Amino acid sequence: MARYIGPVCRLCRREAMKLFLKGERCYTEKCAIEKRNFPPGQHTKARRQKLLGYGLQLREKQKVKRIYGVLENQFRRYFETAERQRGITGETLLQLLERRFDNVIYRLGLATSRPQARQMVRHGHFLINGRKVDVPSYSLRAGDVVTVRATSAQNASIQHAMEEVKGRGIPPWLEFNPDQLTGRVASLPTREQINLPVQEQLIVELYSK
Ligand code: SF4
Repeated sequence: MARYIGPVCRLCRREAMKLFLKGERCYTEKCAIEKRNFPPGQHTKARRQKLLGYGLQLREKQKVKRIYGVLENQFRRYFETAERQRGITGETLLQLLERRFDNVIYRLGLATSRPQARQMVRHGHFLINGRKVDVPSYSLRAGDVVTVRATSAQNASIQHAMEEVKGRGIPPWLEFNPDQLTGRVASLPTREQINLPVQEQLIVELYSK
């Protein structure tokens, strides 16, 4: 699966907000949003233009795609799935994205960022319900149990991430046992439990044109 491999701080500067793509660095003064919060590229130091209509909808979609590290085609497939399901399409879309395996690893505090979580999943460090799964887009269901593999329990990146993100907290739809390195999806996330400053209805409007 293709993925963006360019400089990620540019993405935050484009969206004028922290997308938390670099782990600990995002919480320090080295963060590009702290130092130079203007759009990337030449001649862009002028004030940001006020966005309306299509521009606003497009930026909101790009923001969500970049937060979860999903490219356009896959993102559209998520939208189409959300559209087919009952409920509010925008909220279902966010719920589908939250249920991604790499996002759950990040939310459980086993990785410092979603890109790192994605890499760890690809490297096969985790089990779902006792079976090895190395697909970052795997969609978890309520009741699924995620475990760090015995051979990865002392992995330096996992240990470091757990130490670094202790204060971040775990969302109420997930449970985590740090002694057994086991997490559980207690329930599917509601919109209130998805702590993202995005207006998902703008994405629905964009794709419904
Ligand atoms: Fe974004 Fe993190 Fe870079 Fe800051 S350090 S601009 S939050 S990726």
